[in-house]
Amino acid sequence: MKSKTVTHDFEQDAEAFHQELHREYYLAEAGLKKELDITPIYDRWAHLFTEEAARRWLGAAHDREGRYLAEWVTLEYLESLAKGLTERVSNAMRTATVEWDGEQVPYHNLRPMMANETDMTRRHRLEELERGITASVNEARVERLRTFHQAAMDLGFDGYVALCDDLRALRLNLLTGQMQFLLHETRELFPQLLEEYLSHIHVPIEAAATCDTLALFRARRFDALFPEEELLAALRTTLAGMGIDLSTQSNLQLDTEPRPLKTPRAFCVPIRVPEEIKLVIKPAGGPDDYGSLFHEGGHAEHFAHVDPGLPFPFRRLGDNSVTEGYAFLFEYLMLSESWLAQVLGVEDSRDYLRFARFQKLWFLRRYGSKLIYEQELHNEVEGADDRYVSILTDALVVTIAAENYLADTDDAFYCAQYLRAWIFEAQLRRFLEDRFGTEWFASPDAGDHLISLWRRGQELPVEELAREMGYDGLDATYLTQELIDFGEH
Ligand SMILES: [Zn+2]
Repeated sequence: MKSKTVTHDFEQDAEAFHQELHREYYLAEAGLKKELDITPIYDRWAHLFTEEAARRWLGAAHDREGRYLAEWVTLEYLESLAKGLTERVSNAMRTATVEWDGEQVPYHNLRPMMANETDMTRRHRLEELERGITASVNEARVERLRTFHQAAMDLGFDGYVALCDDLRALRLNLLTGQMQFLLHETRELFPQLLEEYLSHIHVPIEAAATCDTLALFRARRFDALFPEEELLAALRTTLAGMGIDLSTQSNLQLDTEPRPLKTPRAFCVPIRVPEEIKLVIKPAGGPDDYGSLFHEGGHAEHFAHVDPGLPFPFRRLGDNSVTEGYAFLFEYLMLSESWLAQVLGVEDSRDYLRFARFQKLWFLRRYGSKLIYEQELHNEVEGADDRYVSILTDALVVTIAAENYLADTDDAFYCAQYLRAWIFEAQLRRFLEDRFGTEWFASPDAGDHLISLWRRGQELPVEELAREMGYDGLDATYLTQELIDFGEH
C-alpha cells in the first residue's frame, strides 16, 4: 500500500507544479504580467525532476499511468539539466535586433515582416539578417542537444531518439514509413502547385526561399472571407450546432480583452483540468486568426470536458496527439465547403479551399521531412546542417537556410505528435461524417459523441481511439488520399 501513497503524493505535487507553471504562462502570454518568471517555480519543485526521480519512475512504469508519469518526469529532468542553455538561447533571441530601414527591429518581428513584405529582394534581405542572428546561438543549441543525448545514454537508453520513442510511444519507424509514402505520393503534385501559387506573388520557383513561402501563405486576398467582427460568433455558432453553449461553460474562460502585452496568436492554457481552462484571443480576422482560434478552441473544449475523476496523468499528461487531433478537427472545419457556407455565409469558396488544401499539403510535407531529419540530427549532430538542407529542400523545393538546422526543431519529437494527430484527425473526421453526415458539425448527436471522447482525457493513445472507431490502428492512407485528391474537391 505504501507505493500507492507515494504515487498519490507524487501525483499531487506534479499537478500542483503543473498548475503553477501554466498559470504563469497564462499571465505572461495574456499580457497580465510583464515577464515570464518560471525559474522560481522550477526551483520550488526541483525535487520532482531529479535523476533519482527519473530512474524511480522509469523503473515503475508498468502501466499507462506509470508510463505517462515516467515520460513527463524524465523529459522535465532532461530540460532541468539544460535550463541554463535554454535560457541563454531564449534571452539572446528575445533581445536580438537588426537594423532595417534605419531602425532597430526585434528578431521576433522578422518573420511577420517577411510575410508582409511585397518586394522579393527586400524579403530575401530580411531572411539573410534573420539567419545571421539564428547562427549566433547555434553553438549553445548544439551544447543543449549534447546534454540531452548524454543524459539519455546515462539513463540506459540507446540514445535520445530511443528515449523519446519509448517514453512517448511514438512508433517512429512506422510513422516514418507512412511519411515517406506521403512524400512520395505527393512529390509531383506539390511542385506544380507551388510554382503556380508563387507566380501569384511574382516569385520564380528557382529563386524561391523560405521567406517567400511565408509571403505566399499570408494571402491577404482571402481576409475578407474571415472578418474580425465575426470571429467569436463563428466559434459560438459552431459549438451551438454541436449542442454546446459556450456562454454557460463556467470552467472555460474566454479572454478577449485587448492588452498591449498580449500575444497576438490565440492560445489555450489548461490551468486546472477540467476546472479552469483559458482560451485567450486578440481578434484580428483573416484565415490565420480563424484557424488558430478554432485550433485552440478544440484544445479548450477537449480539456473542459475531461472527467474530473480521472487521475492527473490521464487528465493532463498522456498522448498529446489526442488533444492536437481534436484541435485539428476544429481547425479543419475551415476546409469544409458546407461549414464555410453555413457559418460564414461564403457562397463560392472554391479558390480559397484549393489554396487552403495546398497549404495543408505544404504543412504535411514540411513536418514529414522534419520527422526524417530530426532522427538523423539526434543520431549525429556533426554535419546535420547539410542533412537539414538536403532533406527539407527535397520536400519543399524552395531554398532552405542551413543556419536554421537547430532552431527549426522541437524537443522530444513534438513533430511526431503533430503528425500522429494529423493522421488521427482524418480518421476521426471520416468516422463523424459516416455516422452523422458531412454536416456533423451541426449535429448535437455528433457533439455528444465528441464529448464522450473528450471526457476520457488523454488516457488512450490515438491508435487505440482509432481502433475503437473500427480502424486498424493509426492509418495514414486517409490523410494521404485527401492530399492526393486535391484537385477533385
Ligand atoms: Zn495545438
